Amino acid sequence: MARIALVTGGMGGLGEAICIKMAALGYQVVTTHSPGNTKAADWLAEMEGQGYKFKAYPCDVADYDSAQKCIQQITAELGPIDVLVNNAGITRDMTFKKMDKVNWDAVIKTNLDSVFNMTKPVADGMVERGWGRIINISSVNGQKGAFGQTNYSAAKAGMHGFTKALALEVARKGVTVNTISPGYIGTKMVMAIPSEVLESKIIPQIPMGRLGKPEEVAGLVAYLASDEAAFLTGANIAINGGQHMS
Ligand code: NDP
Repeated sequence: MARIALVTGGMGGLGEAICIKMAALGYQVVTTHSPGNTKAADWLAEMEGQGYKFKAYPCDVADYDSAQKCIQQITAELGPIDVLVNNAGITRDMTFKKMDKVNWDAVIKTNLDSVFNMTKPVADGMVERGWGRIINISSVNGQKGAFGQTNYSAAKAGMHGFTKALALEVARKGVTVNTISPGYIGTKMVMAIPSEVLESKIIPQIPMGRLGKPEEVAGLVAYLASDEAAFLTGANIAINGGQHMS
């Protein structure tokens, strides 16, 4: 039977590429969308038109009860989750001087609490079954910090602390936990940055002289999810064109 991969935020720029890659490799792919997302049905139809039959469930990853309910529903309807990709995330950029509690909380809840909320209801089952993959999508800005992103950098760095601690706890149980830290990837969000800003400020920071491709991140997710990656755990893998080497 096909392994089940749950990709949070699968309708976004990176998430879509991850869903497509995992489906191409034979996983049964499930994704989540915000409860208020009115375009979910359109996205599912568009994907079906391209030959991908994804399932999607409403879930506010920032909310513990919503996450529990979502995982219970997926498990009851499809079966246990084998691969969890914690990908959903937001930015609310502003300097620390302007940072208010609302924008701090929104990013910490969506980008960091979500990792607890989604992992909690799946981790025990993975351990009991002796196989599982948890892949957390962080960011280069969690590794090096970024102007205007105290909230985002804190959440993304926290994600990797979670990865390392949980990786230790489940290391002997066939379950791996890893972080991926992408640099600038050419998603719709990044491509919406004015081209002069991209050309003058962003691309010059990247030794490879280009943005990453969502498919390149998806390929790394696929590797971490594979049986071949069984000995790789607790890592934070940078995929940033050489922008930051640690
Ligand atoms: P998008 O904005 O394209 O997608 C983000 C996804 O997260 C959306 O599908 C959105 O779903 C979902 N989401 C946001 N809030 C919630 C919530 N409360 N509950 C459920 N789902 C939610 O972003 P990207 O694809 O670019 O980014 C994906 C991940 O990669 C993020 O974690 C981001 O921080 C990280 N990243 C991205 C980089 C880039 O260059 N693009 C670089 C480094 C890291 P919905 O639309 O339904 O709200």
